[in-house]
Amino acid sequence: MKEAMLYSQLADGSVECSLCHRRCRIPKGSIGFCGVRKNVDGVLYSLVYGKAIAAHVDPIEKKPLFHYHPGSAVMSVATVGCNFRCKFCDNWVISQSKEIEGIDFPPEKVVSASLRYGCHGISYTYTEPTIFFEYAYDTARLAKEKGLFNTFVTNGYMTPEAVKAISPYLNAATVDFKGSGDPKFYRELMSVPDPEPIFETLKEMKRCGIFVEITNLVVPKYGDDLEKLRELASRIVEILGRDTPFHVLRFHPDYQFYEVASTPVSTLEKAAQVVMDVGLRYVYVGNVPGHRLEHTYCPKCKEVLIERFSFDILKWRLTADNSCPKCGERINVVGTFQRGGSKWLSLI
Ligand code: SF4
Repeated sequence: MKEAMLYSQLADGSVECSLCHRRCRIPKGSIGFCGVRKNVDGVLYSLVYGKAIAAHVDPIEKKPLFHYHPGSAVMSVATVGCNFRCKFCDNWVISQSKEIEGIDFPPEKVVSASLRYGCHGISYTYTEPTIFFEYAYDTARLAKEKGLFNTFVTNGYMTPEAVKAISPYLNAATVDFKGSGDPKFYRELMSVPDPEPIFETLKEMKRCGIFVEITNLVVPKYGDDLEKLRELASRIVEILGRDTPFHVLRFHPDYQFYEVASTPVSTLEKAAQVVMDVGLRYVYVGNVPGHRLEHTYCPKCKEVLIERFSFDILKWRLTADNSCPKCGERINVVGTFQRGGSKWLSLI
């Protein structure tokens, strides 16, 4: 157990956690909504500090981050727990676990293993990193000292205080929307009272200089309304700008949504077109290996600049300063193509 960051003690011995927008008030002896933060005699503790339920070396494209150090290998770590209850979660076995499970993998070991396996950075992913914040924070701090970058894959429901606290160490984030951020979808299928705070997180990330890519999971029938997607894409343009990479993701049947079929590719293509029409310049279709919208195109002359298959980069055509070799347009890519490093290792 490790004492939590970002909470306050209340007069009656309960505590208020301010890591995410649930801002749970937790009486003595009780646990917060995420299941991994406990009030012991008026002190809030993280129950999952240094307890990894998963540790894999992945390509950064799996997060997905297509524009941040493309081709990098990232150590991906997670603990059990989540602050959302998505009925279609594809990591539900660990995110919705009722047990505090995991293998001791303290921050120093995460960093030393990352260096040993040739990783370029660390990603806090699979479950929501906000709920294992102290573990991520300490690891990210050490990782930065050793020259590694840090990325979150997050539902974006963290408070501005949490974004500010991690920002000196957090380089990039994938912020995942589902059902185009529709409040009804969030209430009924994810047990989230209101998705609006996620847009505040985006603003805070921008203020803090964190590189952001957006995903939106398109769930057939429940979350495939194109008008709602248009609204989401417009807000992304307004808050983060039209150079923000936007991934339209295919849903696969899982957890309590086994009866819902995978998103038809034609639906994803219509969704991608809507996002492009709004003005976003780097739009991808995800979870459809071999699709033409896995590639990065020059937004000006439409030349294929980065050719991908699934999470692999097949061809890299950007110039040394990340411009289009044909028309000279500057492309919003941070870093250059990282070749090498181990990928697809499973440690835990
Ligand atoms: S991180 Fe957990 S305990 Fe803290 S407010 Fe969110 S759900 Fe509640």
